Amino acid sequence: MPGIPYRGRFAPSPTGPLHAGSLLAALGSWLLARQAGGEWLLRIEDIDPPREVAGAAAQQLRTLQAFGLRHDGEVAWQSRRGHLYRAALNRLLAQGLAFECHCSRADVAAAGGIHRRCVATAPRPDPAIRLRVADGCEVVFDDAVHGQVSQQVDRDVGDFVLRRTDGLWAYQLAVVVDDAAQGVTDVVRGADLLDSTARQVLLQRALGLPMPRYAHLPLLLGEDGRKLSKSDAALPVDAADPLPSLHMLWTCLGQPPLPAEADAGVPAFLQHAIAGFRLDRVPRRAQAASAAVHNTPATSRD
Ligand code: GLU
Repeated sequence: MPGIPYRGRFAPSPTGPLHAGSLLAALGSWLLARQAGGEWLLRIEDIDPPREVAGAAAQQLRTLQAFGLRHDGEVAWQSRRGHLYRAALNRLLAQGLAFECHCSRADVAAAGGIHRRCVATAPRPDPAIRLRVADGCEVVFDDAVHGQVSQQVDRDVGDFVLRRTDGLWAYQLAVVVDDAAQGVTDVVRGADLLDSTARQVLLQRALGLPMPRYAHLPLLLGEDGRKLSKSDAALPVDAADPLPSLHMLWTCLGQPPLPAEADAGVPAFLQHAIAGFRLDRVPRRAQAASAAVHNTPATSRD
């Protein structure tokens, strides 16, 4: 987006404390925003109360602060932005791009797990709303880490949910509306969301919204070789002693060791990191966090 100032963001869901994997996404996205002299917004994606953990958002904010990852402006809370999602949904419905779906989970499962047309035999009181995905719909986009990525959305995903049967907003709709409403130019996040990006691009097109640039950073793997998750205590982040974690994340981002002065404290580390960070060194492949603790830098893109 030439001419438009850089604006990045970090958008955690408050489903638990930040683990090293989410912090890696926060650090990479923060470094790129600061390097570009841009802004870095913080948005708490609290639209799924059943999955929310009390106190998690406040804890996430404290962790980011301890790691020196300051955000610009006010924190945005998705739970307060329902009117924006409603307006976007109404536009899609009015244009015939979205539709009410009475299918049950079992109906969709019986049809192969991918929704292509409604197969419900009876109306339900709480229909979902889905985006209609045209036959043969292939989305191709560029990712700064993964290169050209394409997805056949009709075949791989099908008509996808924008508002759930329980009345809650789907992540895909909320994230697209918010990234556009907040003027986000660069979405830098974990590679677990690479698979959601084609859906988000489709929604941007349907709503006539600009498409941000994308960069998906590597996932972190725990000791057992599995992706870290918020419910995983495997690699807790020590907010009381952030430097060792910052070094580990830096290594997992494929970056070479920083000069010794970077060990003076969090501000010194971040200052050197802003100066030295290079996106073209970031590996595509998931990284073993424990290997990085023992300082084995990632060497290649794949
Ligand atoms: N809220 C999402 C999560 O915590 C991330 C959304 C995004 O960065 O697009 O996984």
